[in-house]
Amino acid sequence: MFENKIKITAPFWQQYINLIREEMLPFQWSVLNDEADIKIEKERDADHIPAEKSHAIENFKIAAGISKGKHYGMVFQDSDVYKWLEAVAYALHQHQDNALQKIADGVIDLLAKAQQSDGYLNTYFTIEAPERRYKRLYQSHELYCAGHFIEAAVGYYSVTKNQKILDIACKLADHIDDVFGSEDGKIHGYDGHEEIELALLRLFELTKNDKYKKLANFFLYERGKNPNFFKEQQKTDPSTKPVIEGMESFKPEYYQNHKPILEQETAEGHAVRVMYMCTGMAMLARLNNDEKMFEACKRLWKNIVTKRMYITGGIGSTVIGEAFTADYDLPNDTMYCETCASIGLIFFANNMLKLDVDSQYADIMEKALYNTVIDGMALDGKHFFYVNPLEVVPQLSHKDPGKSHVKTVRPAWFGCACCPPNLARLLSSLDEYMYTVKDDVIYS
Ligand SMILES: [Zn+2]
Repeated sequence: MFENKIKITAPFWQQYINLIREEMLPFQWSVLNDEADIKIEKERDADHIPAEKSHAIENFKIAAGISKGKHYGMVFQDSDVYKWLEAVAYALHQHQDNALQKIADGVIDLLAKAQQSDGYLNTYFTIEAPERRYKRLYQSHELYCAGHFIEAAVGYYSVTKNQKILDIACKLADHIDDVFGSEDGKIHGYDGHEEIELALLRLFELTKNDKYKKLANFFLYERGKNPNFFKEQQKTDPSTKPVIEGMESFKPEYYQNHKPILEQETAEGHAVRVMYMCTGMAMLARLNNDEKMFEACKRLWKNIVTKRMYITGGIGSTVIGEAFTADYDLPNDTMYCETCASIGLIFFANNMLKLDVDSQYADIMEKALYNTVIDGMALDGKHFFYVNPLEVVPQLSHKDPGKSHVKTVRPAWFGCACCPPNLARLLSSLDEYMYTVKDDVIYS
């Protein structure tokens, strides 16, 4: 739940908070509507990254039957809109802005139209491949996108009391609960990209509906029980065509389903996925008083911050899979250190603080915030880093194919635009991270 009761007045942070409301959110809205005169760049040299336009709002219009055409963009393009909407919620909490709220309310009306009668909400599969729904979970990002929408709904409802967005979210979560779970006839599986777990727990905290907490518990405990799950599940897909090129060869470690999460000793695979998983784990540990889960969180936390994190708070040592590699493997010139991964580390740290008021969590949060989060945006609010380098040799960024991801100048937008709206939602909700309440004490 979003429940901050303070306002940040420090000039340093005020400048960021104002920048997001005044520049970044309007800019991102124009990008999502393909109205910005910008060059969208691929985050690295790869043929499969769609970088002609965003098309994210248009995808929803097509799915809603308002417009005609094909889906464009990454299969998870919807999440760009959801993260933007969540950022708008927090910006409105900072400062009432009727024009901005009107735009956001319009987006919610559009989402309601794009939602299918059974609650399903995803533009790619609705427009292009309804027969492939939930058939290729390791690539589809369907529950990942659902999670980002639910987070936006929790944030927006908390600030504006817009019932429509909460109704869409509950209908979507109820639908997912109908399809996934341990009962016979349901899919005994989970998404290739964690996010739904933490989102369902946020929805539980808001609605107090136990069903959402139970479903998050199922997703977390099911993960890794069968490391071949994704391979086996793919056989149900009527098409052999990947929905994301280049992911076919990734091993279970990439998706953190190589073993049950309670048995995972080290952070493996895609760094953002690990962080969203750990955030969900820490939330569940708190909400269920789950000691074993808390121990697993502490184990992964220790491995990350003592052996697999850069001095900047950046995580992810390789561009291949945007992933962790091995203890103490922290090259400065080929690192990944994605902005989203550091944002995820802050989510994880914040939830660890709620379990255990220990300053180490706040220290890491601050380290990442100052070094690999705010450096992810330029001070015009309109240019962003996807990866946050520690060492750059400009000629090599252009000539060494192993360093095409190490940019020397922040692009305006990316083919895979996960980071810019993630920055917007974190920085506009920064007051959530300034203090921790435990029993009758406030820690700041
Ligand atoms: Zn990102």
